[in-house]
Amino acid sequence: MRFLLPLLCLLLFASISTAAENGSALEAKPAPKALPKAGVVLTFDDRNMNQWVKQIPLFQKYNAQVTFFVDHFQTLTPQQIDALKQLKAAGHAIGCHGARHRKAVDYVRAHGMERYLKDEIDPAVKRMTDAGFPPTCFAYPSSSRNAEIDQALLKTFRHLRGGTGLTAGQRMRDLKSIYVPVDQIADRGCLIGTGIDYAGTEKRPDYLVEIKDALDHAQQRGEIVIFYAHNISDKGPGHHLQPRVLEAILAHAQQIGLATLTYDDLP
Ligand SMILES: [Zn+2]
Repeated sequence: MRFLLPLLCLLLFASISTAAENGSALEAKPAPKALPKAGVVLTFDDRNMNQWVKQIPLFQKYNAQVTFFVDHFQTLTPQQIDALKQLKAAGHAIGCHGARHRKAVDYVRAHGMERYLKDEIDPAVKRMTDAGFPPTCFAYPSSSRNAEIDQALLKTFRHLRGGTGLTAGQRMRDLKSIYVPVDQIADRGCLIGTGIDYAGTEKRPDYLVEIKDALDHAQQRGEIVIFYAHNISDKGPGHHLQPRVLEAILAHAQQIGLATLTYDDLP
């Protein structure tokens, strides 16, 4: 009996230690991939997962991974959650786009930062984490943001996404804010993308040429360029990028050796 108690203690300690090690091994995130010389970050917003999921084979064809920013996570059906699981399993990243898709600047002005975080961010992060999608990144609905909100959100997320557009006659290669040198990406909390919905259609006939030129520009200068769109389909519903245009973009990136990166890949 004199020897039994210390032995039991030792066994108990050993089993707790092993459990703790297993636990931390499960929680440990894979180390981010070494960054390529240049890249493109393609992102898609809102709740178009039933259309997005149909494009998994297209992304696979070009070994491309992208990021999907989802809002109203608390309202998703089991089928929509399953679509997100399939996208994640295919290597894509799932980011946060707000609990209720509120415009950040207006909400903070009306209710204050604390309420914004409590109403729009915290419940979305919790719901996503509980469902197996802990988000590393956030995209501002309607690209509504400012430096103060960036600072508050960067305590929760590694990177954010804002947006900008072309002015009349401006070339996409001259839209400086959408390009970040690879070696500066870790220090750039909020990345700025530009919208590419309707590229290569009647609404934006020149855009596909502009996007390819922007990819060339990023590749030549060792930069990461950021884009956003919404649905991926021929006719919507809602803002959308056609699959044939997405394929042309992915094919061009592959042809010039430009890597696709998800937000989760970024340090
Ligand atoms: Zn949105």
